[in-house]
Amino acid sequence: MEDCLFCKIVKGEIPSKKVYEDEEVLAFKDINPAAPIHILVIPKKHITSLAYVKKEDEILIGKIYTTINKIAEDNGFKENGYRVIVNCGKDGGQEVMHLHFHVLAGTQLGEKIV
Ligand code: AMP
Ligand code: ZN
Repeated sequence: MEDCLFCKIVKGEIPSKKVYEDEEVLAFKDINPAAPIHILVIPKKHITSLAYVKKEDEILIGKIYTTINKIAEDNGFKENGYRVIVNCGKDGGQEVMHLHFHVLAGTQLGEKIV
């Protein structure tokens, strides 16, 4: 999508610190980390939010979770654990309208909302 920040990161028009990449999925470091490890995992395909995930995206979304597990293993935080957060829409606090999975790790994470 033309004016989407994360699509620009996918295209390399905006730099990012890449952690993982394949044909369908990109992971990069969050620019404003909320934990010692804060990685964003996104589909390369533009999907506006979780609310716009379609039936045809089911395999891709499953792949994002197995990719997160691979990233955890490769970066040494699989055993200690991590938290995955998806903010969806205005009330969910989503600011960048391209589906992304926050992966937080590297410390005992704070308050649980749910
Ligand atoms: P959300 O509030 O769930 O939409 O999260 C958007 C996230 O994108 C925030 O944690 C930001 O710090 C992060 N972010 C914004 N711009 C960039 C960027 N250029 N590179 C990496 N992360 C970014
Ligand atoms: Zn996009």
